[in-house]
This record gives sequence, C-alpha cells and structure tokens, in this order.
Amino acid sequence: VTISPFLDPGPRTKAHSLAILQLSRDNLLPVYLQPPTGEHDGYAEGAVVNTRYGSFPHSTMLNVPWGSQIRASKVDTGSRGRKRKRDGADDTSREATAAASEKESEGPGAVAVATPTKENGGAPSVKQAVADSSGFIHILPPTPELWTTSLPHRTQVVYTPDYSYILHRIRARPGSTLIEAGAGSGSFSHAAVRAVYNGYPSAGQRKGKVFSFEYHEERYHKMKQEISDHGLDGLIHLTHRDVYNGGFLVDGRSPQADAIFLDLPAPWEALPHLSRRRPPPSLWPSGAPPPGLDDPTKEWISPLHPRKTVHLCTFSPCIEQVTRTVSAMRRLGWVDIDMVEIANRRLHASRDRVGLNLVNFDRGVNNSAKDVEEAVTRLAEIEARFREHAAKARSRAAGAAAAAAGDVDMDSDDENAGEAAANGNAPRPTAEEEEEIKITTNRLPPWMEGRLITRGEPEIKTHTSYLVFAVLPMEWTEEDEAKAAAKYPVGQ
Ligand code: SAM
Repeated sequence: VTISPFLDPGPRTKAHSLAILQLSRDNLLPVYLQPPTGEHDGYAEGAVVNTRYGSFPHSTMLNVPWGSQIRASKVDTGSRGRKRKRDGADDTSREATAAASEKESEGPGAVAVATPTKENGGAPSVKQAVADSSGFIHILPPTPELWTTSLPHRTQVVYTPDYSYILHRIRARPGSTLIEAGAGSGSFSHAAVRAVYNGYPSAGQRKGKVFSFEYHEERYHKMKQEISDHGLDGLIHLTHRDVYNGGFLVDGRSPQADAIFLDLPAPWEALPHLSRRRPPPSLWPSGAPPPGLDDPTKEWISPLHPRKTVHLCTFSPCIEQVTRTVSAMRRLGWVDIDMVEIANRRLHASRDRVGLNLVNFDRGVNNSAKDVEEAVTRLAEIEARFREHAAKARSRAAGAAAAAAGDVDMDSDDENAGEAAANGNAPRPTAEEEEEIKITTNRLPPWMEGRLITRGEPEIKTHTSYLVFAVLPMEWTEEDEAKAAAKYPVGQ
C-alpha cells in the first residue's frame, strides 16, 4: 500500500511522486518526478525542469534525500526542444508555462521547456546530463503548506494561517470525520486530510476521512485527479453536488461528521441540511425544504455524528454574509457562536545597534545616545571599561588561587589583590564583576545588543475572511441521563 507523500513522504524522493522544487524563498514549483526511461519531450536526458536558475533533469532529482540541494545541469536540448518552445506545443502544464516565461526573457539559446506531468511518463537517460554549477534549487517533500503556496489556483483558496486555526477550532484530529464544501482548489482539503489521518485504525476505531463537495464540474474533475495523483483516494471522498439543494449525504448515507468547514458564498443555505432533525419549513431560506427533502413522512437522515458534539466553521469575506450565517445558526440550535478574523503578519525582528539605547546598558542612567557617532563612541568607552574591570577581576581571582597554593606573584599589577592574596585573604570578584567578565569574555547579552526593532512583511498572503465558529452539542438522551445517574448518584 502506498501512503500519500503528503502523509508520509519517506526519506527520499521517488519516481512518479510529487515533489516541490524551491527555486527561491517564496517561489515553489510542484513537479511529478519522472523516471529516466527514455527521450522525453525533446530532451535526451528525459524530463527536464527549466528555470531561471538553470535546467534540472528529473534524473538528477530522483532518489535523493528530501531537502537536498540540486545543482543545475547542462542539457542536450536538440532542435526539437527549441521548436517546441517557439510553437508552445503541449506546454500546457503550469510549471512549463512558468518556466517558459522565465526562459523567454533569457534570449537566444534559452533551452526548451519540459512538460512534466504525472500522466506523460518518462524517458530513458540516453545521455547523462553534465553537471554545471551555474545555479541550484532545493527539493522538498509535499506538505499542505507548500501545496497551498504552489498549487494551481482555480478559486480563492484558504491559506495556512487561516486553516491551521480553523482545524484547531473545529477539533479536527486523527479519526475525525470532516465535511468540507466547496472543495475549490483543494488547499483546505490537503490540510484537513492530514489533520484527520489516523493510518490504519484498530477495530472499532473510525478511519479519519474528509467528505468534500464541489458543484463546479471542471473544478470537481481537476480535484478528483489531484486526489488520485496525491495518493489520497479513500481519504478524501469528493462528491459533485450543489450542497444548497442536495445536502451532505453520500450515496444516501450519513458521513457522520463531527467537524465541518463551509467555504461557500451562502453558508446559511447549506446549514439546514446540517441538522440532527428535520428543520421546520420556516428554517429553510426559501421557506420550504428543497425538492427531495419535502416529504415529511420520509426519514430524515442527518449527516452529523449522532453521538458526538459537532464543531463548525464558515468562511465569508463580507460582514453581511456573517450576519445571515449567524442568524441561521442561532435559529438552527447552534451555540457558542463567535467570529474571528485572522490578521497574520510575519515580523522580521532584529537588534538596531545604530540607534543603540544606552539606558539599560549604562547601569540605569538615562543617557540615550543622541546620534550614531555618540552611540558608537559611548559603546567603545563602555566596552573598554568592561575589559578593564574584567582584567582586574581576573587578576584578583588569579591572586586568590596563587595564595591558596602558597605561591604569591608580587609582580601582579593588581596590588590589592596581591596584598590580599599574601594575607591569605583574597577577595572574590563581586557579582557585578562576574557579570562584567561574562559580558566581556562572551558576546553581549541580547538586551545589550541594541534596540529591538520589528518590521512587518505586508505581502503575506491571506484571504482575510471572517471565520464564524459554532457548536452543536451532542443530544442528551434519557438513556444517557440514566447512565450518568447510575455512575454519579445524586445525594449519596
Ligand atoms: N476552500 C477552498 C480551498 O481552500 O481551495 C476554496 C473554496 S472556493 C472559495 C468556493 C468553492 O465553492 C468554489 O469552488 C465553488 O464552485 C464552490 N461552491 C459554491 N457554491 C457551491 C454549492 N452550492 N455547492 C457546492 N460547491 C459550491
């Protein structure tokens, strides 16, 4: 059984598996590694990834430890490769397009574009690529986080700062059953499946699973293909459906979900389906249940777990959507409703030695430097003074040690120490001096290295939507009450 590389990538890269190429800090390229089994797309080396950092035959990226640095290679492009570039034929993959636009700017002689996809197989290594150290990249195992930054966008996606918080709040954990709608580009789905994955559960335990719904046909098919390419069949169950009308049952049966995430334009239209009991007509947005659910004599099958509390999150960009969602939640019995907006910022923190604040530095006296020159001069003075103190303290300590050994060095330049040592009564360095020695002989402690400054990175990607959380408690039955009463008798 092959485990998805998202769940267990193993120690090394593998053929036919997804890898994320890190070209630069925020420039990631997903690639399906092809085995070197023949000429490929005009390249004698087999499949090749071209970037502005050089050409990288797949053969050089196979069976290497994840995280390895891969050096660029000289590749035999041949005339066919160049022709392909001009025609743009078959260059439909995202990575091919990205690489093509990068290479276009490099003028004549730029190499052609490979089209590495999972379907198109590989090519034998007719000629070994020649190492050329002009550039390098790193090869990383696929993770939901890396996939989110590199995936082909078909819709707005949920980014890591949001989904990490959402999954925590809806208590998605190994063994959970999570309902998600709509699937969109699958960014959330990948993080969700990792959160609920519980390997091979023992008897009686449920397998963690994501039930995902998407009504846009093309997105549904692309997502279905990705689930299969990523080895996630059986862990993400994708259904092509409009959940406002069709609800969340799968083949007429309940997924028995205990965690739900709705990334839909109108969550209030989906909410009545997520009820334990048939909602009265007035609680459906149109005043009546959708067709198929309008026969009150038919059994109501809830998609929720019958014996668990259910945690729900909806994701909406406008406050008007939030208001309607919260109103529907309240009327449908959801409790603990609250709204959160994630405002994630990456902060670059450093010490500003130039604007050094000497308040703490110079023993609590408020004498902050007025300008750079003064700060530097004062720093030099203070460091010199520390060195002098430390030398004295070291000398005293040495004198004490010598006295203890009965060997007094009368040439010591610290007369007091020498005298004291001669009396067999050498003073130990004071605590303050000990501290100064530490400061002088080691590097300065961080709080002395300058004012702490932080700079925000405003370009961080997030969707900035409002997250509404709610809880539907487990239904408490007479039987539960009897059991509880037996276990914890009242008044005894
Ligand atoms: N959460 C996704 C991700 O992280 O990639 C993005 C979801 S995208 C913003 C919203 C998706 O909901 C779209 O793909 C849209 O087609 C789908 N959708 C909208 N209304 C729907 C409905 N009634 N039933 C099912 N899917 C729906």
